[in-house]
Amino acid sequence: MVTQLFSEQPLLSSKTGHTYLCMHGHFYQPPREDPFTGQLPNEPGAAPFANFNEKITTECYRPNADAGNFESMSYDLGPTLASWLERSHPDVYRRILASERRHMQRYGVSNALAQAYNHTILPLANARDKRTQILWGLQDYRHRYGHDAHGMWLAETAVDIESLDIMAQSGITYTVLAPWQAATPIDCTEPYIVPLYNGCRMTVFFYNAPLSGGISFDWNVTNDADVFASSYLPSHLVPDKSMNRESQLLLIATDGELYGHHKPWRDKFLNYLMNSGAPNCGFEVCSLERYMSMYPAIREVRLHVPSAWSCAHGVARWNFGCSCTEGDSSWKGSLRMALVCLAGRSNLLFEQYTQDTLKDPWAARNDYLALRNGWETLESFWGRHGKYALTDEPSLKKARQTQLLLEAQYYLQYSFTSCGFFFEDLDRIEPRNDIAFARRAISLIWQALGIDLQQDFVHDLSAARSWRTHLSGADLYRQLPAVSSDLLPPLESV
Ligand SMILES: [Zn+2]
Repeated sequence: MVTQLFSEQPLLSSKTGHTYLCMHGHFYQPPREDPFTGQLPNEPGAAPFANFNEKITTECYRPNADAGNFESMSYDLGPTLASWLERSHPDVYRRILASERRHMQRYGVSNALAQAYNHTILPLANARDKRTQILWGLQDYRHRYGHDAHGMWLAETAVDIESLDIMAQSGITYTVLAPWQAATPIDCTEPYIVPLYNGCRMTVFFYNAPLSGGISFDWNVTNDADVFASSYLPSHLVPDKSMNRESQLLLIATDGELYGHHKPWRDKFLNYLMNSGAPNCGFEVCSLERYMSMYPAIREVRLHVPSAWSCAHGVARWNFGCSCTEGDSSWKGSLRMALVCLAGRSNLLFEQYTQDTLKDPWAARNDYLALRNGWETLESFWGRHGKYALTDEPSLKKARQTQLLLEAQYYLQYSFTSCGFFFEDLDRIEPRNDIAFARRAISLIWQALGIDLQQDFVHDLSAARSWRTHLSGADLYRQLPAVSSDLLPPLESV
């Protein structure tokens, strides 16, 4: 990834072209709340903080919000992280939203991108789940920011054409990818058009890999914002474009937590770079939508699909495993198969039992976020999606049963959170969390219908095995925190 960072090209005068810099931060934490209690477990590794969300808030989210960095940078704030921040640190949350509003007021466009809701690897999801992920991400964004999103960050920048097509149909106009996801030659100082079905299109910004990699992985690069702006940035401009005074954009995209958490005090580097270092060297700091509005993409690109920024094997890292992670990664395929089979069985029950209550069960699922998050009442939701009026106790009872099944769908979506498949081994907190979310769905279906999906799921999980501890997925399931016996079917011991 890190090539050419220290290229010895002569420094270009800051006056030779219209040069822009965009600093994009992908802010996200995997959801780790116990799905039965809503509580984040204590995380000893984060001491003296109670958990990593608290630690990262102190080191990164709060100082970046206090410094006003969210006004100048481009960013996406994952829905599951945003809802935690909203609950736990409302002052930080409000400051981030206020920063976005100032950007919007100043430039007429937003600097915040939406995110597919559960950080799901969209190319591995079927079209129906892709749509739900995208629509939930957009609804969450609209609720928080008060306007529609035009950009969407894809988890792990994992992309395929169907996902882009659904995004375009949903009002999304741009996203960000890694340069190696382009299948035709690109100049990453400008955005490109990906042609889609039915005349639709998506603008794609490719980030500068050497600069983004340098900021992420090389401590020395971020020691001094002035040196970074004067020495590193200019060498990545295209000389011909600079000579001809053509516009160009250097896009640096990294995990947002880099600025202060992975790298202490880099929130200050970011602030100084955007407010002083880069402008002093002739770079105008710019958000992606603002750049697009001034300089729309004109050239087309073809993409490698499926592909992602952190796997060299399509999206195998989150599917059946690949050499991107050490050890025997075949557990990934077995875990995915267990989750896919559970979702398949659950979906059949969902369709079967809601055919009498919902006009279109999948449209209702796409709309469900507002109901479950309390943004709208059951009566209002039911007015759009219910097949009958809520007039008496039996009709209310059926509506509540339907709501349990919708909530099961909600947790099934959680069970595909990409972090469960990202790392090397099954016996880690991330796969355990995906299994815990699946158990919550099993519980909700059990409560709604008295149907046991646990037995088959645990059987399927036994095929997934940790190469470190030799525990199986079924062992991990049995180790989940105990819950009241009426919430789950009895689990036979093996
Ligand atoms: Zn890979």
